[in-house]
Amino acid sequence: AYEQQLDAALAFMREGDRFLVVSHVQPDGDAISSTLVIGWLLRYFGKQATLINEGNVPVRLSFMEATSSIINFNQQPPSEVFDRIIAVDCADYRRIGTVSDAFDKGALLLNIDHHPTNDGFGAVNLIRTDAAATVEILYDLMERADIVPDNEVATAIYTGLLTDTGGFRYSNTTPRVMHVASRMLAEGVSGHWIANHLLERMTKPQLLLLQRGLNGLTFSEDNRIAWLYIAVADMTETGAIGDDLEGLVNYALNVEGVEVGILFKETDNGQVKVSMRSSGKVDVAAIAQLYGGGGHVRAAGCRLEESLQDAIPNLINAVRKVLVE
Ligand code: 5GP
Ligand code: MN
Ligand code: MN
Repeated sequence: AYEQQLDAALAFMREGDRFLVVSHVQPDGDAISSTLVIGWLLRYFGKQATLINEGNVPVRLSFMEATSSIINFNQQPPSEVFDRIIAVDCADYRRIGTVSDAFDKGALLLNIDHHPTNDGFGAVNLIRTDAAATVEILYDLMERADIVPDNEVATAIYTGLLTDTGGFRYSNTTPRVMHVASRMLAEGVSGHWIANHLLERMTKPQLLLLQRGLNGLTFSEDNRIAWLYIAVADMTETGAIGDDLEGLVNYALNVEGVEVGILFKETDNGQVKVSMRSSGKVDVAAIAQLYGGGGHVRAAGCRLEESLQDAIPNLINAVRKVLVE
């Protein structure tokens, strides 16, 4: 049962001394917030926690000061190897990225996640797929252990909920989400400031990227699929960074009649990163899994090892096939 998973996760944290905490590559608000909450919890239990991600913390999340303690693995790989790992918000082992190079051979891993495609890759698994965000599960964990979050942790929990529910708008916005968010506001979290900072304000490169993205917006003949693409030149010429792609795919999905919205992003190494969003009729995680990716019914992603020109018709055909079924 779920309560037993919570207890096993708490026991995992109490048993070890030194932990490595990691989330997924290209971390989002839930990934970073979950990393911070686990770091805080481990220190609460008197443990040492090393927080690592394969890349940088997105700049817009740096208002949470503790993010400065998250090490960029590619810039400062730790010399130490770790035998107790906590992975948060990772649907499968590969989502951890190169950070797994810092794991000891016999390392024990605690896998805490909310993705329906999670394959239970941990020695201990704490998975609740109807949680809107991993931070929601971490709140369950704190409740189970009778731990009250301070303002710093409450801010992280609120941020993870806000970002994974698209500002409390997606279908995963349950009574439980609102209950936890309400408790965090009561703790003194500045909900308005966080929402304004993360959801309303845009950087100039971000808006210029949107302009280019919309320029290439294309619809299928029946208007049920819409897609955008961003080439490497669009990034360099606008001065955009990876963070600036956040939310772009929604412009394709949010058109009346569209059932699947897709963003194709050409990467520096010649791959194409695909972001898919569904109105709910089509399971885009199932499509992403055909290409080695995964995610949720309504939001999923994968990588294609081909050029933008080949990747677009290839994937659109796969989506078309699912739509006629
Ligand atoms: P995004 O399109 O924002 O990158 O990702 C949307 C959802 O799909 C997220 O929940 C993310 O965890 C999942 N996702 C994106 N890319 C991949 C991937 O390459 N593999 C897996 N397993 N999940 C992915
Ligand atoms: Mn995530
Ligand atoms: Mn998440």
